[in-house]
Amino acid sequence: MPIPTRHLTGRWSRFCGSTPSARKARMRQPRRAAKAVFGLAIAAVSAVAARPALAEPLQVVASFSIIADFARNVGGDRVSVTTLVQPGGDVHAYQPRPADAASLARADLVLVNGLGFEGFLERLADAGATGKSAVELSAGVKPIPASEAGHDGAHDASDVHAGEPDPHAFQSAANASLYVENAAKAFCAADPQGCDAYRANAAAYGDRLDALDAEIRETVASIPTDRRAIITSHDAFGYFERAYGLRFMAPQGISTDSEPSARDIAVLIDQIRHESASAIFVENMTDRRLMEQIASETGLQIGGELYSDTLSGADGPAATYIDMMRSNVRTIRAAILGQ
Ligand SMILES: [Zn+2]
Repeated sequence: MPIPTRHLTGRWSRFCGSTPSARKARMRQPRRAAKAVFGLAIAAVSAVAARPALAEPLQVVASFSIIADFARNVGGDRVSVTTLVQPGGDVHAYQPRPADAASLARADLVLVNGLGFEGFLERLADAGATGKSAVELSAGVKPIPASEAGHDGAHDASDVHAGEPDPHAFQSAANASLYVENAAKAFCAADPQGCDAYRANAAAYGDRLDALDAEIRETVASIPTDRRAIITSHDAFGYFERAYGLRFMAPQGISTDSEPSARDIAVLIDQIRHESASAIFVENMTDRRLMEQIASETGLQIGGELYSDTLSGADGPAATYIDMMRSNVRTIRAAILGQ
């Protein structure tokens, strides 16, 4: 089955030339409308030109740090990976830089999450990147609707993203295996001579993801079922919740692009009290003050920092995807059980 891909056809000049207020207004538009404005189209992965021989590493651009980690694990030394949104950055709120257009122009292959996650790509110009196909690594996952992802949150009724898919599909290790298979297919299409190596790398990394999946299940199983409700900043953990059986509530929906209202926060605080939430967590990429306010109003302790949409720096606890998932579940367990 072909991997859905997307041509990057937005105009850099259009993005750069707009005023902040015009940009803000456009960001408030429904995503479908933004697609029409920037003329995104679906193309087949065969549009990626296969290289006859690979004297230089395949130039791969990854939209953010988790995708880059998958690309490096599958590509090995046959690829050189450039990351657009660096570790610690918020993909939802990312403002593209001119250097990003230059990276896209040089790329042999562009790998993205898809499911509407990388809104900034719709605002990013092609400036030489016209015709580049972006391979969506989430192809084949079963999407969770945003309204379900936020079913325990306070923002369901007013969430502007309700009805759209929750894009954080990488928050289950089983889905990550699909991402990795899709990356291997894309690399094989772009560099057929390296296909055996890509498939071997993907299989070995897939084994590590299977072990990670089992480890997360085992850790969650050690938490009493009536203590598994927790609070995070935004609804990034819907797939984690569904896969592993923890319950997440959040003041913000599936994106960080709008502030929660006072009513959203009041409803959440009420819900935390009624449902005996066990712990509250800050996310590494978002402002922690809101979570500190909710903690002080509910008497909950901040249980630590979770990594939702981005890895940590190389010296942090979530320098790789596997470390990120392990760090998150261990942080949650330690906060709930006080260990
Ligand atoms: Zn997110």
